[in-house]
Amino acid sequence: MAAMAAALRGVGGRFRWWTPAVAGGVRGAAQGAVGQRDYDLLVIGGGSGGLACAKEAAQLGRKVAVVDYVEPSPRGTRWGLGGTCVNVGCIPKKLMHQAALLGGLIRDAPHYGWEVAQPVPHDWRKMAEAVQNHVKSLNWGHRVQLHDRKVKYFNVKAGFVDEHTVRGVAKGGKEILLSADHIVIATGGRPRYPAHIEGALEYGITSDDIFWLKESPGKTLVVGASYVALECAGFLTGIGLDTTVMMRSIPLRGFDQQMSSLVTEHMASHGTRFLRGCTPSQVRRLPDGQLQVTWEDRTTGKEGTGTFNTVLWAVGRAPDTRSLNLEKAGVDTSPNTQKILVDSREATSVPHIYAIGDVVEGRPELTPTAVMAGRLLAQRLFGGSSDLMDYDKVPTTVFTPLEYGCVGLSEEEAVSRHGQERVEVYHAHYKPLEFTVPGRDASQCYVKMVCLREPPQLVLGLHFLGPNAGEVTQGFALGIKCGASYVQVMQTVGIHPTCSEEIVKLRISKRSGLDPTVTGC
Ligand code: FAD
Ligand code: NDP
Repeated sequence: MAAMAAALRGVGGRFRWWTPAVAGGVRGAAQGAVGQRDYDLLVIGGGSGGLACAKEAAQLGRKVAVVDYVEPSPRGTRWGLGGTCVNVGCIPKKLMHQAALLGGLIRDAPHYGWEVAQPVPHDWRKMAEAVQNHVKSLNWGHRVQLHDRKVKYFNVKAGFVDEHTVRGVAKGGKEILLSADHIVIATGGRPRYPAHIEGALEYGITSDDIFWLKESPGKTLVVGASYVALECAGFLTGIGLDTTVMMRSIPLRGFDQQMSSLVTEHMASHGTRFLRGCTPSQVRRLPDGQLQVTWEDRTTGKEGTGTFNTVLWAVGRAPDTRSLNLEKAGVDTSPNTQKILVDSREATSVPHIYAIGDVVEGRPELTPTAVMAGRLLAQRLFGGSSDLMDYDKVPTTVFTPLEYGCVGLSEEEAVSRHGQERVEVYHAHYKPLEFTVPGRDASQCYVKMVCLREPPQLVLGLHFLGPNAGEVTQGFALGIKCGASYVQVMQTVGIHPTCSEEIVKLRISKRSGLDPTVTGC
């Protein structure tokens, strides 16, 4: 174990480290000729996509290196290897979501005979420490996996020197040049700050900080209304914190809007406050340490103010491309988004430089798509495969207190593509069995399947709002990916009593106007 630790700590070994003062003259030397370069594959970014690609290439017998470097957040939060998902995304988020769900189960428990003294207080410190320890164990696990597969790992910040050479700068300023035949850019993205708002950067935090706070954020204002905003607001409310969401337009842009409205309706009915049609204009610190936020209410035209302990900006993410010196390699980016432009083989404007994951223009910003794109790319480069990543019908779940899982088209998108007359929507309001005994409100438990109207009624999209939506949606995603029709879904035998079975029982179409409330078994 000690030997492994020493091996994992050491970077570089036989590689050329030097001080910046002498680094300028080595450009040509490192680029080298084919067969003389340091690696077959160099991956920039050790997150979901980069690690998957590197490990797959190494598995295929290639000489591979990964460079990964985490620039601390403006608040100084830093973390280890594994990228956004592991450190400041899916993993800590889902664990904190679980903490919040447990609160609901504790409130249900007395109805099922458990004698639990209510209310049960929640300890942020304990939760955060446990979550952070798990994340640290994953950081370590990733390093061990790279070591086991003989992938060289450099904890350096990379920028291109030329189209085959990358300069890595370590924390202390030491530099290294690495050359490779193929280079994959998988540098992901970072949260945006609304820089034009006074006090935003100085006093606000983002999702890069929230999961690493040692102390409870207290009364929190979450600005934004998409995945990150609603998920964070959901678990903060669920663990008992006074939480407000400031939404300037619609919730969950790009998602089915009927489902999105139900998501926020459920959150509002469970204690999250919503400031709709509002945009923040200033954040300032009051003498007592609280943050005073001023906003414009676009519907009334009036100004509003409120005080909070924490302001969490969840206003989108920007690709991490600025420090890469992409122009030195000739890699093209979108002038609007600064994301990297690629073709269906994930190749950039430079044929041997590829890009995958969140840093790429037009890709879903999801871990499983980054992972699959990375694996397939390595298989095409080194395994003789020609399989391309298919970004169609990617399932996803928003882990709000009532989870929303979906795959395929929203109702709006289906109608816009095929026309109202050619689309049939089957739907149901249902009550999960486990909600009955504690008398939980199930007003927002809803499922709908969007199909072509013409037999056999190809399924275009499935939308599920209820407990364990991710688990429910994953299985159905296979069927829908394989081209399932409404008829086939109706021929599928349900598993009773579950929430998933509501999908195979969807008999009421919206067009019929009949009451879609499920009664009985
Ligand atoms: P990343 O995982 O971001 O990895 C990029 C790595 O490159 C980072 O380590 C970065 O520090 C490093 N890097 C950047 N620049 C350089 C450089 N110049 N040199 C060296 N290293 C560099 N997705 C889901 O599927 N499910 C979820 O539940 C989910 N929840 C999320 C919750 C939150 C709060 C957020 C923010 C995201 C969530 N996502 C979720 C999205 C998911 O985390 C990303 O889609 C995924 O991590 C993208 O992987 P990637 O490989 O493209 O980049
Ligand atoms: P998005 O870009 O999806 O949403 C940004 C939100 O911020 C929108 O509601 C937007 O409003 C709002 N906004 C933008 N600028 C401002 C402003 N100046 N003032 C007020 N509001 C503003 O970003 P996210 O960070 O939520 O998510 C990024 C990606 O991460 C997602 O697309 C998703 O793929 C991934 N992710 C996945 C998760 C999962 O799988 N469960 C969870 C979390 C993230 P408007 O609509 O009006 O523009």
